[in-house]
Amino acid sequence: MERLSEARWERVRARLRAEFGDAAFNSWLKPLALEAMDQNRVRLTAPTRFMRDWVLSHYGERVRAIWQAEQPNLAEINIQVRQQPGSERGGGESAEPGRQPATAEPVRERSNGGQAPSSPLDPRFRFETFVVGRSNELAYAAARRVSDSAEVQFNPLFLYGGVGLGKTHLMHAIAWHIHKRDPEREVMYLSAEKFMYQFIRALREKDSMGFKQRLRAVDVLMIDDVQFFSRKDSTQEEFFHTFNALADQNRQIVISADRSPSDLEDIEERIRSRLGWGLVADIHHTDYELRLGILQAKVKQAQSEGEAISEKVLEFLAHRITSNVRELEGALNRLMAYANLVGRPITLELTQEVLQDLLRANDRRVTIDEIQKKVAHHYNMRLADMHSARRARNIARPRQVAMFLAKQLTTRSLPEIGNKFGGRDHTTVMHAVRRIEELRQTDSVLAEDIDLLRRMLEG
Ligand code: ADP
Ligand code: MG
Repeated sequence: MERLSEARWERVRARLRAEFGDAAFNSWLKPLALEAMDQNRVRLTAPTRFMRDWVLSHYGERVRAIWQAEQPNLAEINIQVRQQPGSERGGGESAEPGRQPATAEPVRERSNGGQAPSSPLDPRFRFETFVVGRSNELAYAAARRVSDSAEVQFNPLFLYGGVGLGKTHLMHAIAWHIHKRDPEREVMYLSAEKFMYQFIRALREKDSMGFKQRLRAVDVLMIDDVQFFSRKDSTQEEFFHTFNALADQNRQIVISADRSPSDLEDIEERIRSRLGWGLVADIHHTDYELRLGILQAKVKQAQSEGEAISEKVLEFLAHRITSNVRELEGALNRLMAYANLVGRPITLELTQEVLQDLLRANDRRVTIDEIQKKVAHHYNMRLADMHSARRARNIARPRQVAMFLAKQLTTRSLPEIGNKFGGRDHTTVMHAVRRIEELRQTDSVLAEDIDLLRRMLEG
């Protein structure tokens, strides 16, 4: 019996390793130990509560499914926190896989009492798994530089770009890398929402001093998605003080947002300008080569498990799913899971069938090229004048309309739109958008033009 259960556990572990890859396996699954097993119950232990919760929320379903394949009458898998000398929590806590922990736990606890409010890091988000292309090479190089050098080179590093393009991935990669190189360095990674939440809670619990001290003791502070800082409350102010305190002590700060510092309208002017002092690196939309590269890398990572996917199918996906990397990944996962489940080879037909809705949604997305074409046609002007420097009113106004529509109907950033209009500056685009918004209120002909164009483009 003893040997049987060990053998089973080994097979489950091998499958988990194949499924999630070495990095994730070593970080999260390898530390689990088999404590007890009988006919229909298994008990595992994890070294810390944080680790247990993370395993439950990220791997719980799969651990259970894989084990059930080994042992069909299995009714319960239980993960407990391993009893540790001096641990106040003891081994009493347990939970079942597939159930989410009530709250996310901090990455690690600090020795000076109190908990570091860091958010958990995704073990898959490493430099090794990040595929570099033209659109993200600056952001990638800057992220590497920040994590490779002990000295602060630029402060802050400000990463920005649309959703699903790898900002969070890069930030986690920085944290993992610094931690590996020098475990002594204290890295704190927080989403802006978490920062606000922690700050407000500290205020409520009359512990804002403690909160400040904890933040100001870190070597590297990373705040993700700062566009979520809202105008009204005092968290911006607190963030700014923390920022200055850390910068004064020459500690590295890394910030991300979905737009550039100057476009963060809800953030106070002096903070905005301070955010732009270091290195500002934008991540552009993916191009075909990068999308294909990412798909190839993901397939390689998943290879040990199941079905090979032909280059043709990957090329098809890279062509058709252009929105962002998150959707691209999602499409690939869905396809592999489906093929695996029904046991069919992954052909182009199957791909089209399984991803019908996604493909259609991606097709419907309007491009800036189309917008320029339609607008030029509508106003009877030359397409080339969308890019030209001519400033005559009968050309400049339609051009502004096209910029406005590009901002409204696509997910492109202001600099990207500017680029598409003959390399104009993003402030020009911003101005155009504001101007058209204003005019539309009073000029009913213009308002109708815009409605019509929008319907044609979206239809
Ligand atoms: P963002 O924070 O910009 O919204 P994420 O960092 O969450 O985007 O990325 C979304 C998903 O796409 C993640 O699973 C991430 O690993 C993946 N991804 C994004 N860019 C890349 C890349 N260049 N190489 C590999 N994976 C990527
Ligand atoms: Mg993100």
